[in-house]
Amino acid sequence: MPELPEVETVRRGLEPVLEGARLSRVRQNRPDLRFPFPDRFVERLDGATVLRLDRRAKYLLFPLSTGETWVTHLGMTGRFTLEGREVGAFEDEAPSGGKHEHVSLSAMKDGAVTRLGFADARRFGFMGLIPTDQVEAHPWFAGLGPEPLGNGFSAAHLAQAFKGRKQNVKVSLLDQRIVAGLGNIYVCEALYRAGVSPLIAAGRVSRPRLEVLTTQIREVLKDAIAAGGSTLRDFANAEGGQGYFQHSFDVYGREGEPCRNPACAGEVRRVVQGGRSTFWCPSCQAR
Ligand code: ZN
Repeated sequence: MPELPEVETVRRGLEPVLEGARLSRVRQNRPDLRFPFPDRFVERLDGATVLRLDRRAKYLLFPLSTGETWVTHLGMTGRFTLEGREVGAFEDEAPSGGKHEHVSLSAMKDGAVTRLGFADARRFGFMGLIPTDQVEAHPWFAGLGPEPLGNGFSAAHLAQAFKGRKQNVKVSLLDQRIVAGLGNIYVCEALYRAGVSPLIAAGRVSRPRLEVLTTQIREVLKDAIAAGGSTLRDFANAEGGQGYFQHSFDVYGREGEPCRNPACAGEVRRVVQGGRSTFWCPSCQAR
């Protein structure tokens, strides 16, 4: 499932083509994805100009010249394509295009026309059109915590959110009301990098540890985005794209393998918390 870095990679991949582009020849090939498409979806997109490409948590937000914002959630397998080529590929399952292509349109910018497609084999993704001045108040966004790469996210914010909290820090960090857009993979990686035990109650993580944790959450996300971004340079060279940060995981998916810390003789363990697998090194993450 795409997490924040993968969604950000898609945003960056679409931006050069879509920012300032006028949309036309919009086609919608089925009435719904996870949810029904908005009423008159095609008519409301056709002729609109995309003002810019934003991201909030795992949502892509494209404010339009019509006063509405086109919102897309990629779900599990949602993919955008440009000229039939996937943007910011991050999983090698589920081919894009073909019978799973649900939306297509032409984007005209600087006299050039590019064909944009959206495919979603499992249809857990969805799209919406929300008045731009009402996006923040919309139920999809109203309760979200700060962006982990934004100014609102800090050790002070976590200290406040975690105060007195008995739930473990791993599950607490997946709570989108505390911080938006973090998923299972990057929480595991950040806790490992920060040396914080996933088992400890959130309210018991010391302030200095929260400082380290905040920094490591930002760093792991930046590293992952950079890995996807490298893919996009290949994409521009018509190579097709595949993020490669999965090769840099310290703990995620590495149960039973040696800890990557050269000073540690331990191995990566897996524990299930809140129904999801946590990967961690009990030696390095003792606190
Ligand atoms: Zn270790």
